[in-house]
Amino acid sequence: MSVRVRYAPSPTGLQHIGGIRTALFNYFFAKSSGGKFILRVEDTDRERYSDESLNDLYETLDWLGIKWDEGPVVGGPYGPYIQSERFDIYKKYAEQLVKEGKAYYCYCTPERLEKLREEQIKNKSEYQGYDRHCANLTEEERAELERQGIKPVIRLKVPTEGKTTFHDVIMGDITRKNKDISPDPILLKSDGFPTYHLANVIDDHLMGITHIMRAQEWIPSGPLHVLLYEAFGWDVPVYCHLPMVMGKDGQKLSKRHGSTAVREFREKGYLPEAIINYVTLVGWSLDGSTEFLSKEQLEKCFKMENIHKNPGKFDYKKLDWFNSQYIRMADDERIASLMTPYLVKAGFVSAHPTAEEEEKILKLVKPAKERMKVISDIVDLSRFLFVDEPVEDETAYIAKGSDLEKTKEALEKGGKILFDMLRDGRKDEEIEEALIKLSQELEIKVNGVFQPIRVAITNSQVSLPLFDSISLLGLDEASRRFERALKMIKEK
Ligand code: GLU
Ligand code: ZN
Repeated sequence: MSVRVRYAPSPTGLQHIGGIRTALFNYFFAKSSGGKFILRVEDTDRERYSDESLNDLYETLDWLGIKWDEGPVVGGPYGPYIQSERFDIYKKYAEQLVKEGKAYYCYCTPERLEKLREEQIKNKSEYQGYDRHCANLTEEERAELERQGIKPVIRLKVPTEGKTTFHDVIMGDITRKNKDISPDPILLKSDGFPTYHLANVIDDHLMGITHIMRAQEWIPSGPLHVLLYEAFGWDVPVYCHLPMVMGKDGQKLSKRHGSTAVREFREKGYLPEAIINYVTLVGWSLDGSTEFLSKEQLEKCFKMENIHKNPGKFDYKKLDWFNSQYIRMADDERIASLMTPYLVKAGFVSAHPTAEEEEKILKLVKPAKERMKVISDIVDLSRFLFVDEPVEDETAYIAKGSDLEKTKEALEKGGKILFDMLRDGRKDEEIEEALIKLSQELEIKVNGVFQPIRVAITNSQVSLPLFDSISLLGLDEASRRFERALKMIKEK
């Protein structure tokens, strides 16, 4: 049996880290087992649906380079792959269940159901939910309700006795007493819209889905889905519920922890390969130690058995680390073109950079690679090259463990060493050594010398490596800024 898996998001919000992790696991599992990865849009909740979410889904998968074998846009033999285009199918199958006595029409008004709910709460009733009022209507009663023009919903008959079990590859057997499963959930609403359960089960069956890999929060739906498969007489696919994605504090990852929308990561300048690599390691590992895995490698080596049972932690710092590593590994031209929009937006270069500006950007790449965690960092790192805003607050010049007097001395003596040696054409390492020696003489930390010099030249505490900054600015301009800062500090 060849593997067919699906990612079935509801376009009711931006694609987030947890959703994308589900997509990646499905995609890699399909690829590594020679199967098919299907995209299905579960847009039956029309109130929460938005076009923006649907576009975001396509854009995000596209940006990650995740191609679906079947689904919207590309089509396939089991289409359409958008649930709102499949309503007749759901209706037909729901009616079939009614004919077979496995589901029934319910004519209860929202008012009746609301009253029922209130009473159950008031009486602290053990029994919660629908009271199966319409389960045993006679033909005459039904005909009368139809005559009154009441549009019914279709409800599944859930057995009141016994248990339902489903097997999960990761969690093992999960069993629930039937009496604890929602009493006779709605499958088809009165307006002909299917509920999630009905559409999901029918589509997974009709689309030949062999393995259902989805977030653990769907486990409670499992027994009900199994009852539906049984009612239809269909084979139950293999279930594999994925471990939760948690923040560092062990709570479910949410906006409280930071960005969760993939779009926000993209906008800050994370590279898709870093997101793919790191997100796949949240709740999965190859061998417990391998960290760097390209998309191509994961397409070969991903195994379902290696999915963890315990929740995965999403660590923003670790993602930053991966991203900075991938930035270093990327081609200079690619990094230059990724940096450009940020530089344009900051007003540092023109909207269509001139050849001269392009050259300047390209020169920035090597030193920027040493410092960027995300591509948008380039704005703060390179501001000094495009605007000259000297730092007047002396505390910015004073390194930890140093003081104003020592800083004045470090700046004066360090600057002399630095510029004399640069003019003599001495090597960076030699100059560095001389500056370190100076720090020892002044009995301060190395940074006590480097920090004031760096702030003087780059107007900032976050900047590119010192020698690169000087060479990007040009020696004369660097020295001019240095003298200006020295004069200012000496007057403090
Ligand atoms: N549409 C559901 C979601 O948004 C799909 C759940 C499932 O994969 O069965 O997560
Ligand atoms: Zn009813």
